[in-house]
Amino acid sequence: MDNNRDRYISILEELIRLTHSEDFDREAYLVWVNDACKYYRLSKAETEFYATPMKEQKKQGEIFCDFDTGEQGKPLVHHRIITRTKATVIGTLYSAEERETYTEQELVELDALLRIVMGFVSRMRLIRTLDELGFSDVAGFKNFRAFARFLDIANSENRLGGKVAFHIDLHNFTMVNQEIGRQNGDLVLTNYYNMIQNAIGDTGIIVRLGGDKFVGLFDRSVKRQVYALFTEALVPYDEKEDKRVRVTASAGIYMLPDPFMLKVYGDIMDKVMMASTTAKRQTDSAIVVYDDRMKKEREHVKKVQMEFRQALADEEFQVYYQPKVDIDTREISGAEALCRWLKNGRIVPPMEFIPILEINTDICDLDFYMLDHVCQHIRKWLDEGRDVVRISVNFSRKHLVDVDLLDHIISVIDKNNVPHEYIEIELTETTTDVMFRDLRRVVSGLQQQGIWTAVDDFGMGYSSLNLIRDIPWNVLKIDKSFVPKDDEEENSIRNLMFKHVISLAKDIGLECVIEGVETVKQLDVLRRNHCNIAQGYFFDRPLPLPEFESRLDQKVYPELT
Ligand code: C2E
Ligand code: MG
Ligand code: MG
Repeated sequence: MDNNRDRYISILEELIRLTHSEDFDREAYLVWVNDACKYYRLSKAETEFYATPMKEQKKQGEIFCDFDTGEQGKPLVHHRIITRTKATVIGTLYSAEERETYTEQELVELDALLRIVMGFVSRMRLIRTLDELGFSDVAGFKNFRAFARFLDIANSENRLGGKVAFHIDLHNFTMVNQEIGRQNGDLVLTNYYNMIQNAIGDTGIIVRLGGDKFVGLFDRSVKRQVYALFTEALVPYDEKEDKRVRVTASAGIYMLPDPFMLKVYGDIMDKVMMASTTAKRQTDSAIVVYDDRMKKEREHVKKVQMEFRQALADEEFQVYYQPKVDIDTREISGAEALCRWLKNGRIVPPMEFIPILEINTDICDLDFYMLDHVCQHIRKWLDEGRDVVRISVNFSRKHLVDVDLLDHIISVIDKNNVPHEYIEIELTETTTDVMFRDLRRVVSGLQQQGIWTAVDDFGMGYSSLNLIRDIPWNVLKIDKSFVPKDDEEENSIRNLMFKHVISLAKDIGLECVIEGVETVKQLDVLRRNHCNIAQGYFFDRPLPLPEFESRLDQKVYPELT
């Protein structure tokens, strides 16, 4: 009896030791189960786990049969526990055929052992569930916490040096979803993720940040394979029909120095994000590697964004005017208002701050500031009895989503008591369908109010003839890059396109303005193509208010030779 008792205590001790150690050693556990089952002459020991009552009903769970002699047996001890999370754990021990009777004491012992094992099974499952919940998102992708844990472990083992960190953002994924359906889109994401994970192997990781954005880390040795997937991957979503889509991504890369010690996750995240932002600005698939200049650039961006509000309040922005000239009569026929920032005695050109103001919607406030000042100037000129010409004001595309844009523009013009026909709004081409619709709505609205509208920089982007056919513009401003060069052959593609676009525009009643005219020869090209309005350094650079006013008074440009 005492011998048996000692044996039971040692089995119990061993079991407790196994189930309480940090790393569960399944091999050792199975040896123990075997020993114990043989000792009690069992034929089979089985546990079942069902995460929910529904899963139990459908028998969708995990069944662990840790011991089985294959003999016919009878259930000896059986328990069914429902945990607080409504998971079910079932445990059954079967006796061997020939071993019919068990003492009361033995049954108590087996009962206790089974309960400990079941408690242990539910704990292991709980840890796994926590893992699933904590380190992956609802769609089953690993999440940022999994990335952070991976970094922590690799960092503590000094393994981060020389690795490659990345952030990727898939191109046009909304379009992929539209084309093949959301469900297939999800499948593409999963398959693409798995393709990258396979290329990375187990020395790295990829996790999803949300949507179509992922971050991760890999070893330099697999760089070529992983980069190839960023550049272009044909991702299957229907194996049977062999259907695949082409996925491309913009990737921000940070090559970790060697050695590398991680202090905060930001050391890696900030850099891959910065590189990724730069990559995203490039049009096609792009891989951009972080370098320290990006940090300076970002600081510059932050500085401009911070200074902007105060500068606007202090009226540091000034309107410069560049005349548009009728090349036949040499009269000023209009002018474009261009923004200059007078900052600490220096004139900052728009290209240094406008792209930054366009990152958020700051640009919208600047455009309205410009419109307001232009209206004030026009009102003043009218009151002074000057001959006033129409002034065009640039409006960023960022305005297009604003449903109150039209009302806002009109209220500014009306507040200054300026007749609508003196104002022209310049908008650039758009690339997406959605913006195209917004553009048409805004332009038509302005049109109805008698405010002029111009397509700016036509010929610079991916100009579309739909743009001039479907939207009721008044003016087409043709970018200088579209104007044939002085020595260009008569039948060059540029020459032909220029000629035909101009005649098409004229036929549908658009006024054509050519920007960036600098030479007499360019004027000749314009004349030959019956394009009579020019804006450019040949006549004037953008001028400060007083100088422009004297041009207004002078009216006609002297003949230059
Ligand atoms: P844009 O609207 O196409 O304006 C024409 C640009 O071409 C101006 O540059 C002008 O100075 C320049 N330009 C004019 N004639 C010539 C020439 O003969 N040769 C050359 N090489 N360039 C010439 P600027 O003033 O530096 O403005 C650059 C861009 O910044 C503008 O291009 C416009 O897109 C934007 N911008 C300027 N002011 C504003 C504003 O108030 N609001 C918005 N949203 N954008 C503005
Ligand atoms: Mg413009
Ligand atoms: Mg332009």
